[in-house]
Amino acid sequence: MPERTPFIGGNWKMNTTAREAVELAAGVAQGVKADGPHDPQVAIFPPFVWLGMVDDAIRGSQLRLGAQDCSPHANGAHTGDVSLAMLEEVGVSCVLVGHSERRHGLAEPPERIAAKLHAVLGAGLTGVLCIGETLQEREAGQTDAVNESQLRSALRGLSIVGPDRLVIAYEPVWAIGTGRTASAGDAQAAHRHIRGVLGTLLGSTTAGSIRVIYGGSMKPDNAAELMAQPDIDGGLIGGASLKADQFLAIVDAARREGKAQPAAGTHRGHR
Ligand code: PEP
Repeated sequence: MPERTPFIGGNWKMNTTAREAVELAAGVAQGVKADGPHDPQVAIFPPFVWLGMVDDAIRGSQLRLGAQDCSPHANGAHTGDVSLAMLEEVGVSCVLVGHSERRHGLAEPPERIAAKLHAVLGAGLTGVLCIGETLQEREAGQTDAVNESQLRSALRGLSIVGPDRLVIAYEPVWAIGTGRTASAGDAQAAHRHIRGVLGTLLGSTTAGSIRVIYGGSMKPDNAAELMAQPDIDGGLIGGASLKADQFLAIVDAARREGKAQPAAGTHRGHR
């Protein structure tokens, strides 16, 4: 089995004051290392308005800075949007695309999600593509079909992807922010199917190298079991990423469960 450096992301959503953001980021940065063979890559995704100050707070650390969304456009008449060039200027190196709170909550269409992912990858940043089924779709037995269709539409036209530039976050919508987690077995089955689809779309070597991470009420007490599964390469964490000690406990679980290679580079030294 190819070795994959685990990826742990903390999605802060629309939480924290400026002061809380800087304190939380500094606390996480202190606990993140990338000098051992089993250290995961770790990124935080603060609200847009705090990115610049969080960048200052984590500079020189091994923690990566991420954005929760981006515009698919380079510039122009797009009121309220934030471009990738702007994000890069404040130190962002990875971007969430297609999070369910936008895909479903804001009815973001698949074409726009695809355009964003292509723009992120075209800019040389890491795209974290979020996919996953609703409860209704799961109960109708459509989990694999939904994941496949979301992957196909976002990856259409992408033939070559540096495996470290694309992370797939499988996030069953019914598990996000609800305290309900997919069982390790169900999550592994979904991840395995996702990797199979990636193989069809991008080739088996690339598919074997891409991190497929789980999101949906991952906490310190369930993280190890989930990440022990052969196709689960880390986690996207919402609620538990707002407390440095909880988030770092999940990072530790990834370190223990991962079969990783060193992830070199300090913040602002990744690209
Ligand atoms: C998320 O926001 O992607 C998420 C998984 O949230 P939570 O961990 O709170 O379920």
